[in-house]
This record gives sequence, C-alpha cells and structure tokens, in this order.
Amino acid sequence: MSQANPPEPGCIFCKIVAGQIPAKVVYQDDEIVVFPDINPAAPVHLLMVPREHVENLMTAQARHQALLGRMLGLAPRLAREQGAADGFRIVINNGPDGGQEVYHLHVHVLGGPRPWKRL
Ligand code: AMP
Ligand code: ZN
Repeated sequence: MSQANPPEPGCIFCKIVAGQIPAKVVYQDDEIVVFPDINPAAPVHLLMVPREHVENLMTAQARHQALLGRMLGLAPRLAREQGAADGFRIVINNGPDGGQEVYHLHVHVLGGPRPWKRL
C-alpha cells in the first residue's frame, strides 16, 4: 500500500490544514477539514478538503476512494448545519480546463437562497 502524500510547500490548503493560515473551520476529523470559501459564490459556500495533499481527481489514487465517498456523504449534513436547508450543489474543479485554481483537491458545497453570484 502506498504512503500518504506529504504536505506540499506553498499549498494554501495544506497550510490551512496545518493551522498555518487561519480559516473558520466548521468541521474536521482525522481525514477532512471544512471551512467557508473566502470568496463565496452563494450564501453558503463551503470547501471540503482532505488533510492529505492530493492535487485533484486526475491524480487521486484508488486508495482515496473511501475518502472521496466520505466527503460526499458529509456534504448534506454540513450544508444543512450551515444554513442550506433546501438543497445544495457540489462542484469539483479539475485541472486548467476545469477551472481549478488551488491544486489541492477540494469539494465546493454551494447552497442557500438564490440568486447566486456565479456558477
Ligand atoms: P478552484 O477554482 O476550485 O480551485 O477554487 C479555489 C477556491 O478557493 C476559490 O473559490 C477561492 O475563493 C478559495 N480560496 C482561496 N484561498 C482561500 C482561503 N485562504 N480560504 C478560503 N478559501 C480560499
Ligand atoms: Zn495541499
């Protein structure tokens, strides 16, 4: 079995996971950290990140499948707790053509009353 990836120097989400950059963490466990997007596109806009540095779904390994499933499974509860009572959208941007800006895998959870700014 392959080892977990080490933190990536210069990765902003690795720094948030390590507590080196502040974020208003709304959920964390041994694998996942969740905090609001700094530039929200909807009334509720959370980012769910794995503690392990994984670039995106294009480089994720088979060993990440359970983690990815857990992230999706957590989304409804966190969306509801954070005020998105009537549904939410999940977005995962991958690579340049996917519009990915931060190369540490993250799940956007967007919800709350419409209209939303973009997406
Ligand atoms: P993406 O285009 O999917 O890579 O999205 C990256 C997201 O990270 C953007 O929506 C940014 O607003 C958000 N972001 C960047 N820096 C921070 C930060 N320090 N805290 C919270 N969200 C951030
Ligand atoms: Zn990272």
